Amino acid sequence: MIIVMKRDATGEMVQHAAEKVEKLGLKAHVIQGTERTVIAAIGDKREEMRESFETVAGVSKVVPILAPYKVASREVKPEPTLVKAGSLEVGNGKCGVIAGPCSVESEDQIVQTARSVKAAGATALRGGAFKPRTSPYSFQGLKEEGLKMLATAREETGLAIVTEVVASEDVALVAKYADVLQIGARNMQNYRLLEEVGRVDRAVLLKRGPSATIDELLLAAEYILNEGNSRVMLCERGIRTFESHTRFTLPLATVTYLHQKTHLPVVIDPSHGTGHASLVPDMCVASVAIKADGIIVEVHPEPDEAMSDGYQSLDLPSFTETMTRCRAVANAVGIQCGADV
Ligand code: PEP
Ligand code: MN
Repeated sequence: MIIVMKRDATGEMVQHAAEKVEKLGLKAHVIQGTERTVIAAIGDKREEMRESFETVAGVSKVVPILAPYKVASREVKPEPTLVKAGSLEVGNGKCGVIAGPCSVESEDQIVQTARSVKAAGATALRGGAFKPRTSPYSFQGLKEEGLKMLATAREETGLAIVTEVVASEDVALVAKYADVLQIGARNMQNYRLLEEVGRVDRAVLLKRGPSATIDELLLAAEYILNEGNSRVMLCERGIRTFESHTRFTLPLATVTYLHQKTHLPVVIDPSHGTGHASLVPDMCVASVAIKADGIIVEVHPEPDEAMSDGYQSLDLPSFTETMTRCRAVANAVGIQCGADV
């Protein structure tokens, strides 16, 4: 249920109503909108709720949340959420640009990439230190050593760090170095991991599983939000279909659909979404044209030598050129893409 507070409800009234929700054995999420405050009461006590809240001071009305996901729903918060993490801003008219290699390979590689993508207008640096690989024989990442290299790249450039965490027991370690914790496609429904990242003070980039529906993605986000972490970004990175010309099939309509259903920002990953470097620039530009809240792009100084995903990585000049095109389109549709250069 949503408890909609009156426009003139005081902070004390909101707190009182939230405490009353908790006393009923439900979870209260206070969501401050620009217009008014609402409290999402999560749990299954509809009738008791309606009766006991209609007369509480400052309450305007009590309405059910119809969507299966609750805190993520637009019904609860009609205006878009802007997620901030260091230099990265994603949502509400700001298209964040996260760029960098699939894997951190050396300090030179990550620092050189960070400098170049920053000069091109990126607002965050990506790089995997813990890699979830399809084969156990593939490169698994430099782990903590890689995280330290990312921290060095942040010191050098000021770019926020986006990096993946693959297991609950690594969350504290990765959070020590990262600004944004990436939950990879393979882990979208690892519920214990989602709860764990919901309990740390780091923004989360939640990738869609290749065979997950959009409702399943939103319900996965709900696990994180429910633990109290409101800085969640959703990421469309392509789904598995019968088509084999691209690595995955990238449905851009996800952006528009999610904008209708949720206040959470939506980031597009054209690198994994297509699996071909030659297709990535146009998909970046198209994402900006439909007002995606961010793009995450694999960029490598020498894609041919990359230890993972080189075939879908842009080289440094191609990324710079792509950013020039993205900025022009962003300008045309009235959003801001990346940093001014
Ligand atoms: C990645 O970002 O390098 C990655 C492994 O992505 P995904 O989880 O979308 O496959
Ligand atoms: Mn990758």
